[in-house]
Amino acid sequence: MNEQLDHIMKITERPSPVMVRGAGSWLWDRDGKRYLDFVQGWAVNSLGHSPRVVLDALSAQGSRLINCSPAYYNEPMAKLAGLLADASGLDQVFLCNSGAEANEGAIKLARKWGARHRDGAYEIITMHGSFHGRTLATMAASGKPGWDDIFPPKVHGFRKVPLGDLGAAVAAISSRTVAVMLEPIQGEAGVFPAGDEYLRALSTLTKEHGILLILDEIQTGIGRTGRFFGYQHAGVTPDIVTVGKGIGGGVPLAALIASGPVSCFEYGDQGGTFGGNPLMAAVGCAVVETVAQPEFLESVASNGAYLMARLRALAGHLGHGDVRGRGLLLALELKAQDAKKVSAAALDGGLLVNAPRPDALRFMPALTVSRDEIDAMLTILEASLGGRA
Ligand SMILES: *Cc1c(COP(=O)(O)O)cnc(C)c1O
Repeated sequence: MNEQLDHIMKITERPSPVMVRGAGSWLWDRDGKRYLDFVQGWAVNSLGHSPRVVLDALSAQGSRLINCSPAYYNEPMAKLAGLLADASGLDQVFLCNSGAEANEGAIKLARKWGARHRDGAYEIITMHGSFHGRTLATMAASGKPGWDDIFPPKVHGFRKVPLGDLGAAVAAISSRTVAVMLEPIQGEAGVFPAGDEYLRALSTLTKEHGILLILDEIQTGIGRTGRFFGYQHAGVTPDIVTVGKGIGGGVPLAALIASGPVSCFEYGDQGGTFGGNPLMAAVGCAVVETVAQPEFLESVASNGAYLMARLRALAGHLGHGDVRGRGLLLALELKAQDAKKVSAAALDGGLLVNAPRPDALRFMPALTVSRDEIDAMLTILEASLGGRA
């Protein structure tokens, strides 16, 4: 087995445990050690590990129809498109397999719309620190430090401005600009909210200039913040939204959602072999139907508020910093402690928690996490931070 591990391409530093089983908020490695999982497949397992609704959807759809090619309609594809159109108030849905693919589609759609309706405008204003994926275009769109001159030549057509600086966004708009694209909360950067005011100001700005507002809701969408979409807190309506991660409840599924007038792809412009396959789409329907229930979203909001309050109390007690984020996407700012080391200590103590930057820990539990599990997490976290065990 260890020799086989050596054949896995080295694209990230992984700790040694090999995970074999999950249930709800818990994950087990092959030595039988149990972990409380506040990473959850990277904010992916919205209903926890192996939830009943996902298993039922997989087995019912799997025995009925797994794949008929995107060249033909299928029932789950249609149902999921309808659910996402209803939830977003937008009109047209393209199903795909990963967040990067959804964002790549959003960039293509904006360019197509610019070619058609804005005299060939193609430039997209994006944010410093943003993360939109790992394809060539989405890496170029991202404002991740160190990504500026990686894999040359770079896809051009992106202009970066500081998150929250409206003046910089105004100044960056030219006749070449077709859209502004951002995450309502920058997740990978370390959980930095764009802020509702700023989102509203960008919505007004893009409307005034006749350009598009593209929201990357791959991390914030599907209930993560306590509303179905993160932008609903700000009361704005984007022209294009992308979702991924949590929509599949653990399986690879993502979507590009656009308003009717913006949706201008012609036959052949966009596609993908696995896009909208019935198996993944059926799981997506089960997840969306579960998460969209008002009581479900209320429980995410109240458990998120509870987690935030408890993290703030712990931070105050141990002399750490602010707690940022919304719903069940939160980060704790550490003072004078390396988050990577704390995350490693937590792993030893039976807790999975991510360190997106040297001074921050990120919490992205299952949306179904219980108060007891939050309490158990805090006990291990406090010990990992060098407080009492
Ligand atoms: C994870 C993420 C992506 C990329 O999604 P993949 O499925 O890894 O391609 C894009 N945007 C945001 C905001 C993300 O969090």
